[in-house]
Amino acid sequence: MLTGKTALVSGGSRGIGRAICLALAAQGADIAFVYAHNAARAEETVGLLKKHKVRAKAYACDVADFSATQRLVQSVIADFGQVDILVNNAGITRDMLCMRMSEQDFNAVIDTNLKGAFHLIRHTSMQMIKQRAGRIVNITSVAGLMGNPGQANYSAAKAGMIGLTKTIAKELASRGITCNAVAPGFIQTDMTDAMPEGILQKAIEFIPLKRIGAAEDVAHLVAFLCSEEAAYITGQVLQVDGGLRM
Ligand code: NDP
Repeated sequence: MLTGKTALVSGGSRGIGRAICLALAAQGADIAFVYAHNAARAEETVGLLKKHKVRAKAYACDVADFSATQRLVQSVIADFGQVDILVNNAGITRDMLCMRMSEQDFNAVIDTNLKGAFHLIRHTSMQMIKQRAGRIVNITSVAGLMGNPGQANYSAAKAGMIGLTKTIAKELASRGITCNAVAPGFIQTDMTDAMPEGILQKAIEFIPLKRIGAAEDVAHLVAFLCSEEAAYITGQVLQVDGGLRM
């Protein structure tokens, strides 16, 4: 159980992030989550979390902004007293073949998906070090392991998160803090709903389990990695992809 713990989850207003918030709340954790613009979806998540009788609060913050994330973490600690669990889940796509990709789209994806994770680790880790305990989970992607045509920016950011995960695992292990990465394959969310139907159907042909995953498939693993039972697992990249990449 995670009763008495506070989790900070980025991108909790919908999709995988919302499922992660709910899975952690089901274990008794209080939830502070971040979203970008979608206040209505964020409020929906807060309502769902309250059914678990935990404290829950949504914070609008751009994870790509170093100073804004610093202020965010200060607010979360003022509101909740501590951060025991950090899940870096916020992410975007700006797909295009590399030869046509704009610098702006490359930077936007790196800034949100990779630097966003760095920012939140940077601002929460000192407090976890003082507590001599903590759990960090970074949501990467099989695209960071395999590459994916049209996703040079996204694959580079997600591969970067894997290097970040292993480094943080080594830097913080002696303080009782674990850091792992979870690499989903195709998961049903707004992100995959935006993909052309034909591409998704073709992808399913290559998935041994022959279906797209659910956000909960990812969330259950994240909740386990945040538990006491996962204390001896760190620096790992765990795939939730129906066997897509073996
Ligand atoms: P969604 O597009 O459904 O949700 C994205 C979430 O991130 C939203 O809560 C959004 O907030 C938030 N967000 C986006 N940009 C920012 C920002 N700059 N600052 C703060 N919050 C931000 O994504 P998914 O649930 O599909 O994906 C979640 C994670 O899982 C991502 O990192 C993604 O790369 C990864 N992933 C997803 C896969 C999939 O198949 N769906 C596969 C592999 C990895 P708001 O609602 O306000 O826009």
